Amino acid sequence: MTGLRIGHGYDVHRLVEGRPLILGGVDIPWKLGLLGHSDADVLTHAVMDALSGAARLGDIGKLFPDTDPAYAGISSLKLLAHVGGLLEDRGFAVVNIDATLLAQAPKVGPYRSRMEANLARVLGIEAWQVNVKATTEEGLGFTGDSSGMAAHAVVLLEKK
Ligand code: MG
Repeated sequence: MTGLRIGHGYDVHRLVEGRPLILGGVDIPWKLGLLGHSDADVLTHAVMDALSGAARLGDIGKLFPDTDPAYAGISSLKLLAHVGGLLEDRGFAVVNIDATLLAQAPKVGPYRSRMEANLARVLGIEAWQVNVKATTEEGLGFTGDSSGMAAHAVVLLEKK
C-alpha cells in the first residue's frame, strides 16, 4: 500500500449583484459576485473539499458550518490555511492540486497565476504544484447563463 491519497471536491455558488467576485483569493472586478456565508470563493472551496476528502476529514460543511458567525464574510484563504494545518497535523503533504472553474464570464485567464500562487502560498507548497484552469459551458445551464459558478478540484496527498 502506498501513502498516496486522492481527493475530489465540487462546489457551487450563486452569482448576484452587490457582492465581490473572489476566486482563488483574487478579487476580480465584475458586475456580479458570489453569494455565500464566507467570501464564497467557489474555487478555494472545491480545493478545500478535495483536500478534506483525501485526508478523510469529511467536508468543509462539517469543518466550517455556515451557521457559525465566526465564518461570516471570512476570506476562504484563511479557511484553506486551517485545512492545511489539519493536513500537516496528520502528516500529509500535498503532491499536487488541479482545479477547474466553470464560468461563462468573466475571462479569468489573466488571474490564473495569481490564484495558483495564493493557493500554494497558503498551503506552503510551490506554485508549480497547483494548476487552475477555467472553462465556459457554452451558454448551457446555470454556469452558462451566469446565474452561478461551479468548481471542481482533485488533489493528491502523500503521507510523510
Ligand atoms: Mg462553498
